[in-house]
Amino acid sequence: MHRIVFLGPPGVGKGTQAATLAGELGVPHLSTGDLLRAAVAAHTPLGQQAQGYMDAGRLVPDDLVLDILRERLAADDARAGFLLDGYPRNLAQAQRLEQITSLDAVLAFELPAHQLVERLSGRRVCPTCQTVYNLATRPPKVAGRCDRDGSELVQRPDDRPEAIGTRLAVYAEQTAPLLSYYRKSGLLRPVDASGTPDEVAARVRGALH
Ligand code: AMP
Repeated sequence: MHRIVFLGPPGVGKGTQAATLAGELGVPHLSTGDLLRAAVAAHTPLGQQAQGYMDAGRLVPDDLVLDILRERLAADDARAGFLLDGYPRNLAQAQRLEQITSLDAVLAFELPAHQLVERLSGRRVCPTCQTVYNLATRPPKVAGRCDRDGSELVQRPDDRPEAIGTRLAVYAEQTAPLLSYYRKSGLLRPVDASGTPDEVAARVRGALH
């Protein structure tokens, strides 16, 4: 079974790697950040509650995230496995996840802080198809436009400088303790996240074999 958690600081490339691996393994890529952003865009009650936390770079309250995750994990396509990107983000979430499912591996992506800031501030996203670009390392063919559908690329509100610092601090305080938690349970597999997406993908495959 491929029930895999992608753990690591914001900007480390979890989403990019999860999207690649999901295609290869034929299991869904479940990103709580994507699920929450979709709820915000659809103006659902949950989205309206979550938006302020997200724009500020803070964690959305555990109960709200758990609701949205539990619903997604219950869908048919997640039965044969899943790549969970962005959950859990604190110890309480890890404990709640254990009550819902067992896990096969936790990939822990590692990158120096200055490179995280570079990746986050250079990130641009297509609002239509969600493809992620980076001005420095993965620019679109036509400046400011999505390669796939030509939409105007946008910056996530929480990739602005004011929110980046908060997100990195929240990671250090609340999420990083999960590294030792999963090391103790024998699930942790470290992955060097430096270099190109292809280089990191090769390390991910190595870590899973
Ligand atoms: P991400 O796309 O993973 O960077 O998540 C974007 C934002 O969504 C985070 O900064 C949080 O505000 C919120 N979020 C995503 N996943 C979680 C989670 N597991 N717990 C709390 N908040 C979350």
